[in-house]
Amino acid sequence: MSFQGSCLCGKITFAVTEFEPLIGHCHCTMCRKFHGAAFSTFADVKLKNFKWLSGEALLQSYQASNNTVRQFCQHCGSSLTFCSSYNNNDNTIEIALAAFDDDINISPDAHIYTDTKVTWLKLNDGLPQYRQYRDSTQGEK
Ligand SMILES: [Zn+2]
Ligand SMILES: [Zn+2]
Repeated sequence: MSFQGSCLCGKITFAVTEFEPLIGHCHCTMCRKFHGAAFSTFADVKLKNFKWLSGEALLQSYQASNNTVRQFCQHCGSSLTFCSSYNNNDNTIEIALAAFDDDINISPDAHIYTDTKVTWLKLNDGLPQYRQYRDSTQGEK
């Protein structure tokens, strides 16, 4: 079984065979800016379960001040991956879940970094909400 995804222009395509269990909706300001959206949803994937199918040469990287690296398509700007030192040590990469073209039968498990959630979005899906990362204090439900 393989799940395929692509950027907006379609030049970059990728495939994942298996997802790791934790998938959070991230409300941090960097995810908001990078996606141009209220929050991001990245899925953790082992590197051995991920591959680029086409357009890898079009990938552009942005390294933020906290050394996390985000990759996007230099042609259409779609944000595709996220990588921190945690991911590097864990041999994983985080893939933007909304870029998949195939239906994926998995569910995000939490909202994280809700301290910086936009005020115009109401959360009512019943998932746990963490003010920062998962092991931090749970915010108001
Ligand atoms: Zn593209
Ligand atoms: Zn984030």
